[in-house]
Order: sequence, then C-alpha cells, then structure tokens
Amino acid sequence: MTRPTPIPTPTEQPFYDGCQRGELVLQHCNHCQHVVFYPRTHCDACQSDSLAWRVASGEGVIATYTVVRRGVSADFPAPYIIALIDLAEGPRMMTQIIDAEPEAVSSGLSVRVDFESWSDNITLPVFRLLPVQVP
Ligand SMILES: [Zn+2]
Repeated sequence: MTRPTPIPTPTEQPFYDGCQRGELVLQHCNHCQHVVFYPRTHCDACQSDSLAWRVASGEGVIATYTVVRRGVSADFPAPYIIALIDLAEGPRMMTQIIDAEPEAVSSGLSVRVDFESWSDNITLPVFRLLPVQVP
C-alpha cells in the first residue's frame, strides 16, 4: 500500500495519537468554549491559545458527500464515498464513509466514527452509517 499519509505537526500530533487509541479528540477553547477543528495553535473564534483536547462523541450527521467512481490510483479502489460530516460537537470534518453502498448514503443521515489504520504511525477517522432506527 502506497497511499499518502499525513505527516503530523506538533500541533496535530494529539489528534493522530487519539486516532491510534481509537478516540476522536477535538480541541476545546478554555476561553470561549468553541470547539476547534482542524487542530490549531489558537482558537479560530476568539484567538485564545488556551486549548484543551477532549474526547468527542464520535457522532455526526452527513452534511454532503460525493461518490468517487474512479480512484486516484490503484491504492484507492473505487467506488468510495467522501463526505463532510457535521460532528455533534460542531465542527465539520472531511472524511470517508466506509462499508456503505453509495445508494444508501444521503445528506442528513447519522454516522458514527470508526478508525482505519493507514500505516504503522497513522490511523485516520472514518465514519459508518448508523443502523436505521425503526420505531
Ligand atoms: Zn475561543
């Protein structure tokens, strides 16, 4: 496998460490309570540098998505689904939806985080559709 992998900066490293542990972690601003993603040195709402990492719920809703039908290389077997997820904590995250037929995906569906190992050092968050809740 030769998929490109992120090279985390010191600011980003706690995010990837969380993924390695199977935890989605997000920065929370100690000054204004804003939840920050992607990882930054300062809050993007109030510019405070007092940020704390907390474990997120891992739940979210599909804001929008696209089905990639021709992968960029043989390392990205198509079709696959790239989505923007509105996390329960607020931030929007670009990610992949796995183990779902493209026809089963639509905006507004609930998803939950899972993790996919891309290398010895890099594990990335991916999302799965929640089972349909029948009342
Ligand atoms: Zn803030």
